[in-house]
Amino acid sequence: MRDERKTPEDKNQSNMPTVYDPLEFEERIYEKWVESGLFHQEVRPEGEPFCIVIPPPNVTGVLHIGHALDNTLQDILVRWHRMLGHNAIWIPGMDHAGIATQVKVETALAEEGLTRHDLGREKFIERVWEWKHKYGGEIRKQLEKLGASCDWQRERFTMDEGLSRAVRRVFVSLYEKGLIYRGAYIVNWCPRCHTSLSDLEVDHEETEGALYYINYPFSDGEGYVQVATTRPETMLGDTAVAVNPADERYKDVIGRHVVLPIMNREIPVIADEWADPEFGTGAVKVTPAHDPNDFEIGLRHSLPLVKVIDEDGQMTEEAGKYHGLDRYKCRDEVISELQATGRLAKVEKRTHSVGHCERCRTSVEPLVSRQWFVKMKPLAEPAIRAVEEGRIRFVPERFRKVYLNWMENVHDWCISRQLWWGHRIPVWYCDECQVAIAALDTPGECPKCGAGALTQDPDVLDTWFSSALWPFSTMGWPEETPELKHFYPTSVLVTAYDIIFFWVARMIVMGLEFMDDVPFHDVLIHGLVRASGGKKMSKSLGTGVDPLEIVDEYGADVLRFTLVMGNTPGNDMRFREERLEASRNFGNKLWNASRFTIMNLNDFSPDLGSDLTLADRWIRSRTNKIASEVSEYLKDYEIGEAARALYNFTWDEFCDWYIEIAKLRLYSDDAKARKCAQYVLWETLKKTLALLHPFIPFITEVIWELLPATSGSIMISEWPMPDSSLDDPEAEEAMGVLMDTVRAIRNIRSEINIPPHKKIEAVVVADGSTGSILRCNEQLVNTLSGLSGIVIKERLDIRPEKAASQITSRAEIYVPLVGIIDLDVEIQRLEKDLNATQAAISRSLGKLGNKGFLEKAQEEIVEKEREKLIEFRGKEERLRKRLRELKE
Ligand SMILES: [Zn+2]
Ligand SMILES: [Zn+2]
Repeated sequence: MRDERKTPEDKNQSNMPTVYDPLEFEERIYEKWVESGLFHQEVRPEGEPFCIVIPPPNVTGVLHIGHALDNTLQDILVRWHRMLGHNAIWIPGMDHAGIATQVKVETALAEEGLTRHDLGREKFIERVWEWKHKYGGEIRKQLEKLGASCDWQRERFTMDEGLSRAVRRVFVSLYEKGLIYRGAYIVNWCPRCHTSLSDLEVDHEETEGALYYINYPFSDGEGYVQVATTRPETMLGDTAVAVNPADERYKDVIGRHVVLPIMNREIPVIADEWADPEFGTGAVKVTPAHDPNDFEIGLRHSLPLVKVIDEDGQMTEEAGKYHGLDRYKCRDEVISELQATGRLAKVEKRTHSVGHCERCRTSVEPLVSRQWFVKMKPLAEPAIRAVEEGRIRFVPERFRKVYLNWMENVHDWCISRQLWWGHRIPVWYCDECQVAIAALDTPGECPKCGAGALTQDPDVLDTWFSSALWPFSTMGWPEETPELKHFYPTSVLVTAYDIIFFWVARMIVMGLEFMDDVPFHDVLIHGLVRASGGKKMSKSLGTGVDPLEIVDEYGADVLRFTLVMGNTPGNDMRFREERLEASRNFGNKLWNASRFTIMNLNDFSPDLGSDLTLADRWIRSRTNKIASEVSEYLKDYEIGEAARALYNFTWDEFCDWYIEIAKLRLYSDDAKARKCAQYVLWETLKKTLALLHPFIPFITEVIWELLPATSGSIMISEWPMPDSSLDDPEAEEAMGVLMDTVRAIRNIRSEINIPPHKKIEAVVVADGSTGSILRCNEQLVNTLSGLSGIVIKERLDIRPEKAASQITSRAEIYVPLVGIIDLDVEIQRLEKDLNATQAAISRSLGKLGNKGFLEKAQEEIVEKEREKLIEFRGKEERLRKRLRELKE
């Protein structure tokens, strides 16, 4: 795009509104960026690659505060690398989110009184695509509002043709290697969604229930074994009773048989370590078809599987007379029958953990069914090594252990889902000979018997199967594209810790298997954004904040800065409304400083001149130091620290000190001095804007447009590189002395209530070098602290009478007060103030000593009270000191 305002004359500073209003320009700026094409980069083989793939948000998603943080962090990194001149791309995209999307569309259908079965598979999938085209773009618009500089030309969707092809390719390849298999397995089943769920998709809730003690009589005579269970209806499918081999009580019953009540089936008593002598009676019923642990026991002892509950949550034929009953109804009937036959020994109330479907809250039924699995052990080995050898680095490092622990104990991954929306499993069965054929494309005939009638597996793949391929499937794999060659492995993955297993681990596995290399070098893990009280943000609890509402009120820059400032990798953060105000104030401060600078650059020409003052040397040295600090922080992913350093520098050193000092020359008649001040102001603002740009891109771009002698977008301006020729420790030391002195005098002025325009005198006691710094810059100190004169001494023979004093690290400062203020009035005022302060202290002590207050008040309020007390005590001390000085 052509920049229309290149020369200083054309940049009309009167265009700059007096008030910073982000809503005036954020949308325009984003459009400008998109039009400029700067988000997009082609492969530049000679350029240093930097690449991030976005954690693909669900197509059903709306931007929540966690996304806002996640994507702000990524945007900061990619904007930074772009400014460094790297070949930097951020690949965006969306996940088809199998079950979440299907449930959405099913809900919409339900409003029309339809189910997906009424439509049939094909029509239903068409409806989902319609839904996707209509609503699926929401999250992209929201990312745009946030300022995300994604390379939208590279946007992908996990159900794209290209990505679907990659999915089939991976499936077939793993299948042919024997790493994908089909097997009977116990899975978490949702009878409502009609699909299996991974452990991660099941929410466990403490539920009121009971523990039922049931007597199973021995088949060969007197006596019984008592078992305890929370789910008596599953007893209909018991195939053994297990006791711990070390349990003395049951030593003699192992190997005997009991008769299963109601079913009258003989089942063995077996010894298995799993049976916990502390639980119930120490003897447990074993139902391999309906409990994951029992399933494992069943495998160890070759027990038969008796499936008594079906996919709808109803009792099967195997349940005998209870066939057709709902599982909970059946529970009641079983209890009554056991009671009637005297088999129910006792019932204890107890709460226990019950798994619920994350999507629809139905309680999960463990069921045995035929599912597809990825054999994880062999795939996990290289993925463990890659992290152990440091080829992938976790930030912060503690997540390395979390990852390794999980990978070392990894289970096979159940990848089939009984859904319609998703990547259909590329396996066909021959109708004639039943052989299974895994293939990239629909096979024409059975390779074994030549029959033409083949039926595709009805299931689809777990959504995470396709997202596991994301780092290379988005770059065109399995084709050997220039992107893969240049950008793979990607540079860094930015994500929250809650999906390390779902996603990060599986990407590492797939990257190593199919690209023979790790998918990324660094994994930056950030925490969750919590409500101000520390609770998880949740719409239903009313503790959520909507990032889009914040953008509408404050602008995206304010939200971004608030989320990032002080955020440390891996740690949760609390979101406080007040911090938005603080960020907005920062935007105002920058705006006003820029406006002042630009207004004073009307006759500006960008050359340095040779009349640098101490303050010029100091701010140039400091800017340079901040640039290198910020670069270091960003390199270490200490993004919150980088923001904090920039905040402090901009606010304090640049705005409050340098601009104030520069004013003296801007308003002077000395043309050379004015030119020099203009240059350093311009240079400092330019660098500050560049450093701030990745964090607050909109406001910095708007100011950049108005700043003379800049061209193009700030997005591709040069990142301020450290330049040792600008380092000036001498100037930093000297300015340090001056600033301390001025601060001390200003403190005295405000505490003694000296009117701002009243000129005062000061006596400063300082050693040789400090003294000479002050002497050389007397004029500056006088101006900045409103002095009519300053007396600098190496030592003090007699302490000035009735003088207020302050001590800095290198000097003592006295301000004689006779003739400056009415001492009697001031003493009275200070005494009054002291009394009031002391009263406030005793009130505060009273509160903090009150048990009732401490117990009832919120933690935050108690904390505020403590802070108040500390403040009052400090004030009391200062007042006493002032009074002593005035009375002396
Ligand atoms: Zn469900
Ligand atoms: Zn066949």
